[in-house]
Amino acid sequence: MRYVSTRGGAAPLGFSDAVAAGLAADGGLLVPENLPDLAPELEGFRGLAYAELCFRFLRRFATDIPPDELRDLVARSYAGFDRPEVAPLLELGPGLRVLELFHGPTLSFKDIALQLLGSLYARQCAVRGEAINVLGATSGDTGAAAIAGLTGRPGAAIFILYPDGRVSPLQERQMACTGAPNVHALAVEGSFDGAQAVLKEVFGDGAFRARYRLSAVNSINIARVLAQCVYYLHAWLRLPTELQAAAEFAVPTGNFGNVLAGWMLQRMGVPMRGFRIATNQNDILHRLFTTGVYAVGEVRPSLAPSMDIQVASNFERFLYYSSGCDAERVGAVMREMKEKGVYRFADFDRDTFTSSRCTDAEIPGIIRRVHRDFGYTADPHTACAFKGLDPSRPSVVLATAHPAKFPDTIRASTGAEPTHPSLEALKARPLVRHKIVADAAAIRGFIEAHAV
Ligand SMILES: *Cc1c(COP(=O)(O)O)cnc(C)c1O
Repeated sequence: MRYVSTRGGAAPLGFSDAVAAGLAADGGLLVPENLPDLAPELEGFRGLAYAELCFRFLRRFATDIPPDELRDLVARSYAGFDRPEVAPLLELGPGLRVLELFHGPTLSFKDIALQLLGSLYARQCAVRGEAINVLGATSGDTGAAAIAGLTGRPGAAIFILYPDGRVSPLQERQMACTGAPNVHALAVEGSFDGAQAVLKEVFGDGAFRARYRLSAVNSINIARVLAQCVYYLHAWLRLPTELQAAAEFAVPTGNFGNVLAGWMLQRMGVPMRGFRIATNQNDILHRLFTTGVYAVGEVRPSLAPSMDIQVASNFERFLYYSSGCDAERVGAVMREMKEKGVYRFADFDRDTFTSSRCTDAEIPGIIRRVHRDFGYTADPHTACAFKGLDPSRPSVVLATAHPAKFPDTIRASTGAEPTHPSLEALKARPLVRHKIVADAAAIRGFIEAHAV
């Protein structure tokens, strides 16, 4: 399988090169050249354990990794999850299920993709005999999950920049208490946008990037999207037959990565009903799917911080596929969007998508109601997906974080204090972080001193 750019201006890459590159050379996103038809395989997938299913799915895409090696790599990536099912599907009522995606090491759904990506990076170091230095900026969950994916991996170091004092204390502990010498948590003065701007500047220095073999961790790596297709497939295979084509997946959404993965699977011939795009008060995607207008607004911090996003970077892949793989059109749209910040978009399938928006004022009430009605504790992100569910439509709600990551909101909503042993254990460990100014020279200096 080869990977092409959504903007059509870069040479196709193999899987491993696409994973290493992250972004296409022309600034577009990498996508598989064609999507396989899984319909004839679905019967044979029935009953497979998560890791085996993941392997059978990925081997169509990771064609440059020998199958035995891939099977092994996938098995190791999911061995650390605290449930044998990896992504358990719970039944709350006759038409209501929850797909729990937070059983990995950092208790958010980001682990599902980033544990696999960590294994792929480690393999790349081993195969090429070259170390890599992974660099990223985070407002919370992604940094923690990326770190967990690379902690203690030989040949890799990871540097994560986060805005000092603006991530939750538990998220900071997940990044700064690993005790691993190859992990560097950098508390940057100022905002997330500031941290991201310096990071861009560091990456913009081509000579520096090449000398330290820098790789970016971000939401657009194609391996992340492919890894996320698997939990939809795993859950779909476990639905009662009469619900398989009827159930709508309700997805807490920020960057559109999670929804995109489900939708790509549907395009691969899995008969799924569709998706509910559930945003928080940063509702760019809800506005898009109700009005057809994509208009970038200001980000307002919310109780579901991992969805505080106003530019849905994975949306470009959606645009590519829904325009019939017309790279020229995608390039033109992206230029227009960059210039005007607004884009009119109508050619999506309205039967497949519904959407909702959940404000901060609504989140605690939803958490309380779900707890009362079903005895289930939803974290603030998951709560957004419980909003406005149509009772006549069978639904699968994707639960993207463990409630113990957001103890204040849960306590205020239900009166109970959720805990998790892995978070309790972190509280006893020393915090090792480096305060640094938001300045490219300072960041480069730190990398020079700590790179592998
Ligand atoms: C990242 C994140 C999301 C949003 O996922 P996208 O792929 O950006 O749509 C939702 N919930 C949690 C807990 C997250 O960490």
